[in-house]
Amino acid sequence: MAQVKLPDGSTLGITDGSTTRQLAEQIGPGLARAAVAAKVNGQLVDLSTPITGDTELQIITLKDDEGLEIMRHSCAHIMAEAICSIWPDAKLVYGPTVEDGFYYDIDLDEPIHPADFERIEEKMREIVKADKPFIRKEMTRSEALAKLAGDKYKTDNIKYTDSDIISFYSHGDGFEDLCRGPHLPSTGRAGSFKIMSVAGAYWHGDPTQKMLQRVYGTAWPTKKELDEHLQRLEEAKKRDHRLLGRQLDLFSFDKAGPGFAFIHSKGMIIWNAIVDFLSSVHNKYGYQEIKTPIILNEELWHKSGHWDNYKENMYFTNFDETSYAIKPMNCPGGCLVYKTRQHSYREFPMRIAELGLVHRHEASGVMHGLFRVRQFTQDDAHIFCTPEQIESEIIGVIELTFETYQAFGFEDFHVELSTKPQKHIGSDEIWDIATDALKNALKYKRIEYQINEGDGAFYGPKIDFHIRDCLKRCWQLGTIQLDFSMPERFGLVYTDKDNTEKTPVMIHRAVLGSFERFIGILIEHYGANFPLWLSPEQVRVLPISEKSNDYAGTVQDKLKEARLRCSVDFSDEKINAKIAKAHSEKLPYMLVVGPKEAQSGTVNVRIRGIKENKAVEINEFIGIVTGKIIDKEIDLAF
Ligand SMILES: [Zn+2]
Ligand SMILES: [Zn+2]
Repeated sequence: MAQVKLPDGSTLGITDGSTTRQLAEQIGPGLARAAVAAKVNGQLVDLSTPITGDTELQIITLKDDEGLEIMRHSCAHIMAEAICSIWPDAKLVYGPTVEDGFYYDIDLDEPIHPADFERIEEKMREIVKADKPFIRKEMTRSEALAKLAGDKYKTDNIKYTDSDIISFYSHGDGFEDLCRGPHLPSTGRAGSFKIMSVAGAYWHGDPTQKMLQRVYGTAWPTKKELDEHLQRLEEAKKRDHRLLGRQLDLFSFDKAGPGFAFIHSKGMIIWNAIVDFLSSVHNKYGYQEIKTPIILNEELWHKSGHWDNYKENMYFTNFDETSYAIKPMNCPGGCLVYKTRQHSYREFPMRIAELGLVHRHEASGVMHGLFRVRQFTQDDAHIFCTPEQIESEIIGVIELTFETYQAFGFEDFHVELSTKPQKHIGSDEIWDIATDALKNALKYKRIEYQINEGDGAFYGPKIDFHIRDCLKRCWQLGTIQLDFSMPERFGLVYTDKDNTEKTPVMIHRAVLGSFERFIGILIEHYGANFPLWLSPEQVRVLPISEKSNDYAGTVQDKLKEARLRCSVDFSDEKINAKIAKAHSEKLPYMLVVGPKEAQSGTVNVRIRGIKENKAVEINEFIGIVTGKIIDKEIDLAF
């Protein structure tokens, strides 16, 4: 008998050598039907895998992320079989999962076109309908290499595994593929899928190698989820920030500066609203603000370590026979400011913020509107403190971060903690103190987090913040990064209680990351229907006819007096045309005014996204709207 410990803590006895599927059956028929794989002692395995000895075991279903991933990866095999049956010359290279789906790299001289997708899907549906079992076959490395002799791609794949046992999976008939698994129990368990695109991809990303065809697909447990996903993609296309940015005159790019955004006047209103908000946050959380130069000499970048580790992404310039670099990060400048005077432990923690303009060279292929640019402003800050202060400082940064995201209407976030990598500097003791401080801070704030073991930077552990937008896309925005290296490189010190000089702990933190990218995210999240406090124009007054222009002007004066961003449409268009125009510009509020309103001192309010109009006294309207701006309310209704 093997004793199996289940996730709920209970233990179940089962005959040694029984499969994980049999265990699922023993737990209950519902779970057995839903099961797609199992996790044995932390390792994912097939349902046909035998259980030997005492184990910790979890049955995996499509409700688990791992189950969904196994289903998507299994779809890659099903697609590979379909492609090989249509094009017998196709050679399979590598078929991993990606967010929402999977791809397979295929070596095939004949190009696969979008017009072929239907044909591939049809074949895939046949394979799914046949409900063929995924059967695992194991052999030694040398047997596998002999079997795959002549297949340069698959023999290469074997080189990248360190296991002595190599596994193949077949669909119960002629089709077989090298893979470590696990997979669905049978092809019939695949959900709803769709081939999405095909693109060129070099083998190992090496341009000297042959160009392969990368065929992408998406797969979901149900047809409904697939349809919802496809709908989100359609919606994302409509919300593309590059499109809306042009349409609403927010920003542009020019070939004179590839990857450098030109922010237009309406874009600058959003920008400045963010700056003002961050300044108020800095004030509340006890930060000082500084500004450091964007060009600093080469020597500094040698000292900071960027020359050795980051040179490929930096821009350089020369004058007065000296070589200078354009800063890719703000930290070295922050260290120089710190060094301008002596510091005592009494000043700690010292929180220094900088909205710093940085330049980082990106390959031209990866640039994408505001999402990937070569010049951006980072909402950076550096905290200098003692090791004992790390935990409370991290708590403060977490609070500040969540408060900031909520102000922009983001409520759905997740956190990842990255710990000590193999190659690192600093003693194990300081790593333990710092990592525990991060964990304790997250625990104190009752925040669930994912641990990325060994994924920290060589100079310290970090926490990353990710938000999910309304189209369920995840964006990594904020970071808290501990640094044991830079303070030493720059010889930063403070005088401690015992009158000795010590090296401070340095915490880097960014909340929004890049202003440019964050504005791009805001545009897509809101479809440019910005919250009131961020709207470039908050209110527009629309006189019904020329006769009401004077009253419209009076209303505008009152709005301006209250510091609202507003205008009047004095054009001689018909009122419906004025409304349509303001609507297309996504105005939060339109105030329609005619003789009736003029006489009663009211305005007829049209609220974005709401059908009913409202007649309100002008001062009352101003009171409501200014209140909403102060509270950063997302909801426009009143
Ligand atoms: Zn596989
Ligand atoms: Zn920094």
